[in-house]
Amino acid sequence: MKTGKVFLVGAGPGDPGLLTLRGRDILACADLVLYDGLANPLLLRLTDCPCERTARTQVGSGRIVPQQEINERLIMEARSGKHVVRLKGGDPFIFGRGSEEVAALKNAGIPFEVIPGITAATAAGEYAGFSFTHRDIASAVAFVTGHEDPSREATRLDYKALASFPGTLVFYMGLGRVQDICTQLVREGKPGHTPAAVVCQASLPHQQVVTSTLAELPAAVAASGLRPPSLIVIGECVDLRSACSWFEERSLFGQRIGITRPDHQSDDVAGKIVALSGQPIMMPLIEIRAIDEEQAAKADEVLGRLGDYQWLIFTSVNGVAAFFDRLWQTGRDARSAGHLQIAAIGPSTAAALKARCLRVDIMPDSFRAEALAESLSPHMSGQRVLWARASRGRDVLPQALTAAGATVDEVVVYRNDDVEQFDAEVVDLVRSGALDWVGLSSPSVARQFAKLLSLHQIAQSSLRTGIATISPVTSAAATAEGLDVAVEATTYTWDGIIDAIVKSTTLR
Ligand code: SAH
Repeated sequence: MKTGKVFLVGAGPGDPGLLTLRGRDILACADLVLYDGLANPLLLRLTDCPCERTARTQVGSGRIVPQQEINERLIMEARSGKHVVRLKGGDPFIFGRGSEEVAALKNAGIPFEVIPGITAATAAGEYAGFSFTHRDIASAVAFVTGHEDPSREATRLDYKALASFPGTLVFYMGLGRVQDICTQLVREGKPGHTPAAVVCQASLPHQQVVTSTLAELPAAVAASGLRPPSLIVIGECVDLRSACSWFEERSLFGQRIGITRPDHQSDDVAGKIVALSGQPIMMPLIEIRAIDEEQAAKADEVLGRLGDYQWLIFTSVNGVAAFFDRLWQTGRDARSAGHLQIAAIGPSTAAALKARCLRVDIMPDSFRAEALAESLSPHMSGQRVLWARASRGRDVLPQALTAAGATVDEVVVYRNDDVEQFDAEVVDLVRSGALDWVGLSSPSVARQFAKLLSLHQIAQSSLRTGIATISPVTSAAATAEGLDVAVEATTYTWDGIIDAIVKSTTLR
């Protein structure tokens, strides 16, 4: 069997956008991903292969995986022919033991490649607003491990040299020893008034920055309850923060927002939330599935006689995808729809049609069934209309179009089902009040969210999650379930939901 290859990929410091292009390409064609506890799980969405976490420290009740075992696993998987990605937080060779993994691979004759990542320190500089080497302030920067006990004789770090280092000091893994580190530096002659800071969860939505002086940093850290992963930054550059910070000023900073869309459609919305410093929580409450055999037989029969119709109507991106997939699978293509007038409910649906080189003849200004019916009505007299729809949804459209003189047939092209189990982590976030917002994008999603609450005995009165709905119809469904709607989109899309949340958080 041909030996595979191991790719050590730097995952960057946290913000998923900070992965390199090479890292993204390699993830896309991996057979197995072994990732460490610092790699953002959102990056795992860039691959379809199995992903396993290798924790070298105890997480919850999880087992500690020794480094030796990780090395052996990499060798074994590569020998079985796999392309293995070893995804490591930050940069693989900066305090990451990447070089030990590589040495073991080389020793075993396994081909490998190492892809750098943005290390936590540089991200902390940019995302907290320090420039480590501002030319008026520092001409050098040192990355130092805080893991070693500075009071021990055996420490390999020369604190005297560090105290007189002519530049910025950045300590990794030092939070638990902040007192010792600061004391030792002062003892060796570094002025106690030197600006100092701790940056926790750099580049992530819950980034926290505590600034102080070298002498007072330990007390400031103790008072703020910071947790790892954190970096200690010591130097004049800390004073630049007020002039250079930006990340914490974006409108969704620190906000956890639940995306209830089907999983495969969440990435765009997640990207928008991340770009505003928020944290997307994927919590699909409905799923899109293929139609069953009976429905497929019916669909195929209709697709075989598209010539009977004058109009084709789509009310979702999923409808477009499923309709054309089915057309393709049954040996036809877009030309079968060439004679038809096409209507779409909104811009996303229209974009899905455009991707198939089809222009939309009618799209309402407001993206809901009533508005679509209103736009279509003047053209409906004596027309035969086909609506490519989901297995469930409202019946407003056929009723209104029939009333306007059309003959309407419906063809179910995909199933819209409730997810049967709710993710335990999501339930915990809702219960503890850590989920700041949830977007509800249809009446069935609203009912599902109410079901999640009742099934897990979370009283609506205790709910601290803000409810953002896509439209008045969804708000009505939510209200009927007893939910308190906090904000409603004015444009009936997921972008509209995010805009409504942004507006509300900036008003607060
Ligand atoms: N290879 C990684 C470092 C691994 S050592 C890199 O290049 O970034 C783990 C230490 O990195 C943590 O103890 C912490 O000091 C630092 N670290 C990693 N991610 C961080 C983050 N998002 N914010 C602050 N510190 C981080």
